[in-house]
Amino acid sequence: MTHFFRIACFALLLFSISSCATTERATKRFSGPFVSYIVDASKPETGTIGVTIELHGAQLGDEALFCIPAWAPGAYQFIEYGKFIKAIYPIAENGDTLPYAQFSSCVWQIQKAKRLKKVSYLVGETTDLKGGVLWVETTEINPKRIYFNGTNVFGYIDGFKHLPCEVKYNLPTGWKVASAIEVQPNSTEAVAKDYDELVDAPVLMGKFERAEAIILGKPHSFVIDSDEPYRPDSLIKVTDEIVKAHYRLFGELPYNKYVFLFRLVRPKFLSSFGALEHRNSSAYFMPVGDWRNVRADQLTNTISHEFFHLWNPKRIHSTLLGSKENGGFDYQNRLYTPNIWFVEGMTDYYADMLLVRNHIIPARAFLDGLLQRLSYMKMFPTENAESLEALSLRLANTESSEEMIPFYIKGTLVAMMLDIELRTLSNDKFSADSLLIKMNEAFGKTQKAYPEDSLIYVIQNFSGVDMMPFYTKYVIGIDLLDIEKYFEKVGLELTSRDEETAFAGYLALPDTADNLIVGFVMPNSEAAKMGVQSGDEIIEIDGITKNDKERFIQRVLFYEGQKSGDSTTIVVSRGGEPITLRGKVGTRNIKKKSIEPSKLADETVRRRRLEMFGF
Ligand SMILES: [Zn+2]
Repeated sequence: MTHFFRIACFALLLFSISSCATTERATKRFSGPFVSYIVDASKPETGTIGVTIELHGAQLGDEALFCIPAWAPGAYQFIEYGKFIKAIYPIAENGDTLPYAQFSSCVWQIQKAKRLKKVSYLVGETTDLKGGVLWVETTEINPKRIYFNGTNVFGYIDGFKHLPCEVKYNLPTGWKVASAIEVQPNSTEAVAKDYDELVDAPVLMGKFERAEAIILGKPHSFVIDSDEPYRPDSLIKVTDEIVKAHYRLFGELPYNKYVFLFRLVRPKFLSSFGALEHRNSSAYFMPVGDWRNVRADQLTNTISHEFFHLWNPKRIHSTLLGSKENGGFDYQNRLYTPNIWFVEGMTDYYADMLLVRNHIIPARAFLDGLLQRLSYMKMFPTENAESLEALSLRLANTESSEEMIPFYIKGTLVAMMLDIELRTLSNDKFSADSLLIKMNEAFGKTQKAYPEDSLIYVIQNFSGVDMMPFYTKYVIGIDLLDIEKYFEKVGLELTSRDEETAFAGYLALPDTADNLIVGFVMPNSEAAKMGVQSGDEIIEIDGITKNDKERFIQRVLFYEGQKSGDSTTIVVSRGGEPITLRGKVGTRNIKKKSIEPSKLADETVRRRRLEMFGF
């Protein structure tokens, strides 16, 4: 999972359960027992979906538990999706509704279950969620589209999660449906080998666009629901390069086909963006980027991040993360594991590193991204108050995605340091590449999980070097990250020089309606001399109006295109009246930091840098 800023949600309606009664029959697709689902999405205007689950060829006892997951694999928040079930009807062969009692927010006990024919229920949109929950974890239902993560909509009968499943969708006229388990592109039927696979394939319905590409001989689908025209050619081109970069590392693509689901929206202040990985697909809720230069967009790094998750943790993972030996995922209880730092940190390190190593992004972009992480670390002074293991263990109790940010940043830097440590201690005979390849052989391809508390022993055994001191300091312990010492070992250096930059002297922030409001004006600044006042709404700057949003934001917040001493004209709205203010762009002296390839690096170090980063 990756995430960026913040988000909000909407309302719902109920409709009669009769709308999800259907005459369709389950097909004879399986030889043994199986579970069928009929998903009635034909009335999105009601804000609900009707679902009917039926068990075929298996006998229930006197009582049965019907369950909806409390959380979604890959997403770390405990949402309790059962709270969004609007009504439930356990129905007997003769049409009677069987008695039931709700056990918890996500579990219902059905009585006289021997007579049970099917369970019908209504799913509403996910609402009233605490801040920071990402779209990719939620359910959106409206006349434009329906999106859901499988965990939010597909319930299960306890004890039968191992059975194969089939799904049939009823859609509004003109709509399509897409997911990684579709029988074929644009089919309204889907098949999964068990419940874990069923819920690990998010579903998008609506009038989206779709493009297909064969990459390394395997079909890849691009399902795109965008607020702006998009250029599938540039998106497919960069994705093709990303898939090949990951293939070069692992020597395999562990799927028969892959589906990318994109929901691309116009950027808004205070919106949350993010993505979620799945077994053979990934879902993205992202701002519409610059299609002429997609590889400079955060979408490129995000695709790389989610794609790396195919291995870490979808294939390579510890026992709690869905091992078969452990009976698959525990969808009802919070997940407490000390290894999430490895899952997210190693993944985000590789997301960027594989891009630069394979020349998908330039070295400058990679180094600037690294610098950004270092400056974020400084913004979170609690960075070293808790160890990575402690942060991992409490992730399940996290209330907002913002709380996770320091964890992702620190985890990523420690993953890079771990790679450098492995390389230097082994005289460049072993690296994080070697570790991941070995872990994939031992745990990924065999579908075995490594024991929860054994990650350090796995690293020690595979690498043959003593990583315990490193682990004790930076993973279990709270030592300050000695990042510059590690930079030296790969021929990078942190430089700093004095620089004069443009600076207006006011601070503008977006309000809830996305207007930029001046919150503070520095005394004696150029802005103060021009007459900018706290409370002014900036509506135009140097001829760029607020309607030209991207350019407007860049100019107001980041002085893009301005130099100190330039003339500037700002139009503000004050008390509803437009006022034109004229003056000059001010100056500020800053320490401009940068990460640069070191000129003093010796041959060994330069070779190491080249092998890791491709420059
Ligand atoms: Zn992730």
